Amino acid sequence: MYSRPTHLKTFRNFNSGLKLLIVIALIMKLHRMQLPREVVVGNDTLSFVSDICRRLGFSESAFVVTGPDTQHVAGRRVIDLLNDTGMDVDHLIVASSTAWDVRAVEEKIRELKPQVVLGIGGGTKIDVAKLSSARQGIPFVSIPTTASHDGIASPVASVKGLNKPYSIMAQSPMAIVADTNVIIQSDYRFTASGCGDVVAKFTSVRDWELAHNAKNEYYGEYAASLALMSARLVMKNVDIIKPGMEEGLRVVLEALISCGVAMSIAGGSRPCSGSEHLFSHALDLVAPNKAMHGEQCGVGTVMMACLYETDWKGIKATLQKAGAPTTAEELGVEPESVVEALVRACTIRPERYTILEEKRLSYDFAEKLAKTTGVI
Ligand SMILES: [Zn+2]
Repeated sequence: MYSRPTHLKTFRNFNSGLKLLIVIALIMKLHRMQLPREVVVGNDTLSFVSDICRRLGFSESAFVVTGPDTQHVAGRRVIDLLNDTGMDVDHLIVASSTAWDVRAVEEKIRELKPQVVLGIGGGTKIDVAKLSSARQGIPFVSIPTTASHDGIASPVASVKGLNKPYSIMAQSPMAIVADTNVIIQSDYRFTASGCGDVVAKFTSVRDWELAHNAKNEYYGEYAASLALMSARLVMKNVDIIKPGMEEGLRVVLEALISCGVAMSIAGGSRPCSGSEHLFSHALDLVAPNKAMHGEQCGVGTVMMACLYETDWKGIKATLQKAGAPTTAEELGVEPESVVEALVRACTIRPERYTILEEKRLSYDFAEKLAKTTGVI
């Protein structure tokens, strides 16, 4: 579906080459895009995993990162399928996505030197596999078992313990294998959360435009359009996004993957992460582990869209139809936590210019915003 652009030759393995690339990039203002080469979405796509690996040139060895539950859901099957073709496959089960987990996987990669690393699971396993493989210069394949956020296809990773409550650059997956048969068996709440992460692009793209106009920040219209189109498609098709409905799940998966590709094209999370994400990151600090990333971003989008005086009611209705939270109560947080997160959001990532820099919310204004949108 997508192919790596050939106009840029990369020198990742050679220091001198890397320096040369940086110098050329600085002189010519080049923009480097790293895109997935194989994107396979559909019923029983797991059975193609060996073929996909072989097509990408990986037929000798692989290292699988999976979780205690996802090991049973898909991990074991992928390991068996790869073993059947004669590949040497090792694996590690990780329970969380901390800097420590990333180091443990890196150690294994250094020791085993696999041709490819496969991340199989929800967001956390994929993030650990993505960041550790990137740091060790090994290609990475993403095999999601939920559709909960766009990290399944993006070049960025969110890991705890890095002193940054937001995502950092890692690498794009070389392939994404999304098996709807497997994903549809996950709790529907994950998919509803994925809808929240997609509608977030309504405000993240506005924030990117704002930063371009106010701060002359680089703005890529192609990446912005792709992110926005994903949000519009989820809004348009929300009636079929329901528990057990494969057609709706495909809409969400394809939207999440397109958002991941938009980030790959932009060379960072800019098109997909704006003020609504800053709100979610702030809420992670104010009221940790209460709700999912996409759920919080969805609620943030409703409030930021109201700040932009755009169609926040339409966004809220979309989330409601998808079964995603739109209130503090549904997120499982106190109303005061929402207000505090709104006030603190602009301090999370000062270099990321958004509507929150322009509006500088006071406590009273934030409270009014949350009340106006019915979040509290
Ligand atoms: Zn997100």
